[in-house]
Amino acid sequence: MAIVPEYFGSLVFDDRVMKANLSAEVYQSLRKTIDEGARLNIGVANAVAAAMKDWAVAQGATHFTHWFQPLTGVTAEKHDSFISPSPDGGVIMEFSGKELIQGEPDASSFPSGGLRATFEARGYTAWDPTSYAFIKDRTLCIPTAFCGYNGEALDKKTPLLRSMEALNRQALRILRLFGNTEAKRVLPAVGPEQEYFLVDARMWEKRRDLRFTGRTLFGARPPKGQEMDDHYFGAIKPRVAAYMEDLNDELWKLGILAKTQHNEVAPAQHELAPIYATNNVATDHNQLTMEIMQKVAARHGLVCLLHEKPFVGVNGSGKHNNWSLATDTGLNLLSPGQTPYENAQFLLFLCAVIKAVDDYQDLLRISVATAGNDHRLGANEAPPAVVSMFLGDELAAILGCIEHDAPYTSIDTGKVRLGVDVLPKFRRDTTDRNRTSPFAFTGNKFEFRMVGSADSIACANIMINTAVAESLKVYADRLEGAEDFEAALQVMIRKTIQDHKRIIFNGNGYDDAWTREAVQQRGLMNFRTTPDCVPHLLDEKNVKLLTSHGVLTKAELVSRCEVTLENYCKTIVIEADTMVDMARTEIIPAVQAFALDTARAAAAKKELIPDCPCEYEVELVKKLSALTGQISRRAGDLEEAVLALSAAGDIKTESELIRDTVLPKMGELRLPCDQAETLTARKYWPFPTYGELLFGVR
Ligand code: ADP
Ligand code: MG
Repeated sequence: MAIVPEYFGSLVFDDRVMKANLSAEVYQSLRKTIDEGARLNIGVANAVAAAMKDWAVAQGATHFTHWFQPLTGVTAEKHDSFISPSPDGGVIMEFSGKELIQGEPDASSFPSGGLRATFEARGYTAWDPTSYAFIKDRTLCIPTAFCGYNGEALDKKTPLLRSMEALNRQALRILRLFGNTEAKRVLPAVGPEQEYFLVDARMWEKRRDLRFTGRTLFGARPPKGQEMDDHYFGAIKPRVAAYMEDLNDELWKLGILAKTQHNEVAPAQHELAPIYATNNVATDHNQLTMEIMQKVAARHGLVCLLHEKPFVGVNGSGKHNNWSLATDTGLNLLSPGQTPYENAQFLLFLCAVIKAVDDYQDLLRISVATAGNDHRLGANEAPPAVVSMFLGDELAAILGCIEHDAPYTSIDTGKVRLGVDVLPKFRRDTTDRNRTSPFAFTGNKFEFRMVGSADSIACANIMINTAVAESLKVYADRLEGAEDFEAALQVMIRKTIQDHKRIIFNGNGYDDAWTREAVQQRGLMNFRTTPDCVPHLLDEKNVKLLTSHGVLTKAELVSRCEVTLENYCKTIVIEADTMVDMARTEIIPAVQAFALDTARAAAAKKELIPDCPCEYEVELVKKLSALTGQISRRAGDLEEAVLALSAAGDIKTESELIRDTVLPKMGELRLPCDQAETLTARKYWPFPTYGELLFGVR
């Protein structure tokens, strides 16, 4: 059996393959493009394309595709074969530099939020050479950005790359001020921890809600849920272990650094974390990971559920987005340094993040807003919808001393008065864990925990990168003009702490008292739902931020706002329709059949024992028929609420109507259905129960 180092990355056109298959000159030129963003000339592109094609064909590939990430949130690909006819009636395999660099898929069926009129339906995809090409299903996949004909971004990758560039620009200015002349680039590093559920495929087949919407819309609570806490980090069951093994192999072949796996809190819930990578690569890899997770599950007779809330009453799934900033020379700018001077630089970057999160709480909340994630944020399992930051006691104490110019006492340094040139060496506090905070500092990185499990991590990072770029810009503007650098630095760090300390909260984020304090005393934002927050994308301050750093234009923002609300509406309407359908065609008939058999049993008994009261049967039939009546009425109400949406006129109004009428009516319909489940004999129930789904994989 091959060992991992032998096949790791075997399906990737990575640096090793480039070195081996490109001339020294072409390799150098491509490296310059990858490392420094230099333009690629067509001669080099042709040579790279030819080498890529030869390598891919040798691996059995027949097609190539520009692999991109439209606003649907999933990846898209259109395959073209390499074949080209030769005069002798055969074919040769061809792939040109032009085909590598740019593609022109028909963009008309991808959501654009009105950005692209249909007469300009063409879009183009442009190669992102910083993310390696790879082979999937005998197809050479070229990671690309996807734009409309006039360059307007129609995907998640284009603004992500722009935000990385904005951050790089501003971070380098700060580094130069601290005398760092070596670093050529500063890049965000991201490690997303992916949560998911595994259920048996045969059971999944029988549930239309899971098939159409990815979550259960009905289901009474099972006698056992997650209350025993026996699943978290528990021993992995053989079928799941076999799945994970297979999954890791597939990911490793694709060069994805799958590292950690364990059972999560809920039964049937698991997590996979890779080793962190540069932001755009981490994003590509996470999209691929989600796809491969589902594919491998099918091979094992399983279905991988990526939905944020597949089951009511047990924990949902999220994606912890670990984020830090690193130079191309390998320096983590969020790592406390060895010397006071290094620590001053660390503190400035830390403050930049604090200011960014406080100033753009709304953008962070918007970046994770989906119909699925709304079920999670604010429920007592995931971070609340209020954005706050956790820094740990030691760092919080240091900031407190800086704020008040008070002496700081530590074991290492004793009592010191903190200034820029006298900062304590503090320990990297990695043990201090606050799992309830939406944005936690964990030693040398921040962990943004609000991202939904099914969502792309692109949006969240676009906002983090750009907001931090803005803080750094404000700092650099001031410091570059300062007469006394150190004094100015100190003033700025102190001012940031004073102005933004309201965002720092080290307590329990699940506590209702916190939400009240956050909103009433601290003036923090609390957007509970997607329709509540998404329109704020177009608030003046947010438009100014994103346009001034060249990340998204006003038109692109309007389009994104539209697409996000559209996705929200479509998702919930599909759920509502599925509910009505299941209630009418599966649940009511099942309950009816059981009621009828119960009534028949009573009649038979009466024939045998004429004065038998048949109390049990009579009571049960009464209850069941009351419930079917209720189910039928409520299904009708829900259907009407959905029909009434056509009068909404615009997408914002429609999303609000859905929040205020459709969603509550879905909850109302679910109640009698779940109640009926607990009264109906098992063999009548038309689909697998929560207990069977959650404990069905051994
Ligand atoms: P956990 O949160 O599960 O205890 P860790 O916090 O150690 O685990 O790591 C979680 C994720 O954070 C991993 O994907 C890891 O690679 C990533 N990570 C670790 N260091 C950094 C860093 N400096 N920048 C970005 N991500 C990082
Ligand atoms: Mg973590």
